[in-house]
Amino acid sequence: MRCATTETAVVGAGVGGLTAALALRREGFSRVTVYERQAELPFEGYGIQISPNAAALLDGHVFAAAARPPYREIRRWRDDAVISRIDLQRYRTPYYTMRRGDLIAALASPVVLNAPVRSAADLDAEIVIGADGLNSALHGAIASDRPRDSGYVAYRAVVPAGLDRVVVWLGPGRHLVAYPIGGGVNVVAVVPDDGVALEDGFAEWHPAPRRLIALMNGSPSHLLRDRVPLPCWHEGKVVLIGDAAHPMLPFAAQGAVQAIEDAAALAPLLRHPDAFARFEAARRPRVERIFAMSRAGLQSYHLPDGSEQRRRDRELAAAPANALDWLYGVNS
Ligand SMILES: Cc1cc2nc3c(=O)[nH]c(=O)nc-3n(C[C@H](O)[C@H](O)[C@H](O)COP(=O)(O)OP(=O)(O)OC[C@H]3O[C@@H](n4cnc5c(N)ncnc54)[C@H](O)[C@@H]3O)c2cc1C
Repeated sequence: MRCATTETAVVGAGVGGLTAALALRREGFSRVTVYERQAELPFEGYGIQISPNAAALLDGHVFAAAARPPYREIRRWRDDAVISRIDLQRYRTPYYTMRRGDLIAALASPVVLNAPVRSAADLDAEIVIGADGLNSALHGAIASDRPRDSGYVAYRAVVPAGLDRVVVWLGPGRHLVAYPIGGGVNVVAVVPDDGVALEDGFAEWHPAPRRLIALMNGSPSHLLRDRVPLPCWHEGKVVLIGDAAHPMLPFAAQGAVQAIEDAAALAPLLRHPDAFARFEAARRPRVERIFAMSRAGLQSYHLPDGSEQRRRDRELAAAPANALDWLYGVNS
């Protein structure tokens, strides 16, 4: 029988784990312990987009330093022409862009640092929430698969420039995302993992995206990976959330957002004897839809110029204003 004094362990102090700890305490779970393998919380300076569907689940103070871009524009790589403009202000809750470190700081509560957990057997807890990310150790309680390489890497940098909206430039084989965060513009360049120097890959692009690329000099890259979807997100006393359960490619900017949705959905269910099954049943259809949307970006974002690209652009341009309400409108 699960009750309000249940000892609950949360493994991982990323966005998902910290949100879960807050949500559990709000539900009256007083003995919640968060374990983080690193020596400090990941207060990194890169940006993150938090769409209204997750922003609505968090306290407003979390977004004190965040930007509120009014639109997302999809633009052509060659001439910077706008393919589509998505209104991000049509929801009750804003669409935020911010530093990841500010988000982590706003969600943070007591965490046991320097505490890598290898398996749930290490923990004397009745409930173990695995929020330990893409390379989750607790994922091993459920499956033995490994993260799958996408063949693409992402370069990230915060550059000294001005921008008031989210812009996504689509081009053959690569794309570029830029959005405002406090004190600069967060830029993410997604390119094939082929060793071509970042600037060379964008040499033929319009000067607007190339200016941002030039400011990224020397920024680090890392391989983009997801996993084949798990058949089940829980086993015994372990339940997975966020990237530990369903890591997705970042093309829909929903990985952390879905971790927040997971945490908010799980906490109120935890007193039910079949909490984990209820949680998974409630969350799986939506997560799978978003996962598939993210994975589809591998092809659709990177089409060479030609008939398929023109069809994609026509479809983007013709999308109705409410096309993303199913995604951003939930709870907002
Ligand atoms: C380039 C890029 C851009 C992105 N942009 C966005 C975006 O704009 N919006 C969005 O919503 N998502 C975005 N994402 C996805 C997002 O970063 C992830 O989905 C999100 O961080 C997942 O959160 P999480 O809490 O599940 O896992 P993580 O953030 O990975 O946190 C896991 C935590 O667990 C800790 N940990 C790991 N193993 C152990 C262990 N064994 N014991 C204890 N602790 C452990 C880690 O140190 C870490 O602190 C982006 C991803 C990339 C790569």
